[in-house]
Amino acid sequence: MRTRSRWLVAAPALAVAAAVGFFAVVPRVVDGRMNAVDEGKAVAVGERAAALHATLRVADLHDDLLLWDRSVLGPGTRGHTDVARLAAGGVAVQVFSTVTKTPKGQNYQRNSGETDNITLLAVASRWPPRSWGSLLERALHQGAKLERAEAASGGGLIIARNRADLERALAARETAADPKPVIGLLATEGLQSIEGRLENVDTLFAHGFRMAGLTHFFDNEVAGSAHGVAKGGLTPLGRQVVRRMEALGMIVDLAHVSPQAFDEVMLMAERPVVVSHTGVHFVCPGPRNLSDVQLATLGARGALIGIGYWDGAVCDPSPRTVAAAIRHAVNVAGEDHVALGSDWDGATTVAISGDRVAQVTQALLDLGMAEEVIRKVMGENAIRFFLAALP
Ligand SMILES: [Zn+2]
Repeated sequence: MRTRSRWLVAAPALAVAAAVGFFAVVPRVVDGRMNAVDEGKAVAVGERAAALHATLRVADLHDDLLLWDRSVLGPGTRGHTDVARLAAGGVAVQVFSTVTKTPKGQNYQRNSGETDNITLLAVASRWPPRSWGSLLERALHQGAKLERAEAASGGGLIIARNRADLERALAARETAADPKPVIGLLATEGLQSIEGRLENVDTLFAHGFRMAGLTHFFDNEVAGSAHGVAKGGLTPLGRQVVRRMEALGMIVDLAHVSPQAFDEVMLMAERPVVVSHTGVHFVCPGPRNLSDVQLATLGARGALIGIGYWDGAVCDPSPRTVAAAIRHAVNVAGEDHVALGSDWDGATTVAISGDRVAQVTQALLDLGMAEEVIRKVMGENAIRFFLAALP
């Protein structure tokens, strides 16, 4: 009896403790484990690289920070980035993506869209209940996090929704004291977030989204994924979506799309596209990396290619391999078409966290790349692209 009555008292307390543990601890443990930094692959930054890096306007095309239960502004220690760490790394422009659905057992070869990990993360991270069953609401929730961070940042984070915003924010950086403001652009990874409805492209646009990947890890209503089951091309809805995005001034991102979808978008696109986070076959073969034919096509069509920092992009995720992939992309696509696409906080392990981007500058110098070209790939190409592409 004594034991039983103790249990009667203890059970609710244990349930509360378990719930608190689940909500407070689980998302953070998952975050810390899934977004690791491999310090062993770091390179030492010398005086010349540090001096050059201090003069760069660094831009990066893909960061999944908004997915996690973490302060957007920071400074924190978990994962790869927050605004404070990006500012410390000299990042002037960062594209913040939003993730709405990832399959269980996610892999690069073949995934169906039948299962989903994000539902559990959304509940455990106490996202609004309307987002638990709606992929659109998940994107909007993560976008709203960025807006709240901007409002609380005292000018440290500036979201660019159009060309004039970007011009103003870049000008503000020129005279700002350190840490200089970080300029954010909002994106989403996979247009399963429009839930099969063309009008939701406009909804995303109205909420500040300015770039969207057509697919993520599974075939969706818009296009086939490089990691899907059918790996098909654009659907009839997908063609309407590309047209609508171009009309609105939303940038089409071909990261993760199937080879067939890639070719079909290149045939119909009237505006330059991006591949926000990728590798190149020459350095790291794999289903999500670009062939030389794709690189050449992208260069000829005025595209922007963001080279990633994690193993799926560069096989050996060290700054030296990242630099080798950048150099190859420059050789094939051209020096005006290559940028950084870290995939920070994208459930990746990287050597270069947001405050350590100077390691890329060092590795590019070590390859003998000219400072003018380094300046372009580290940020000026992306800035020029966004100034032309934003509405
Ligand atoms: Zn991705």
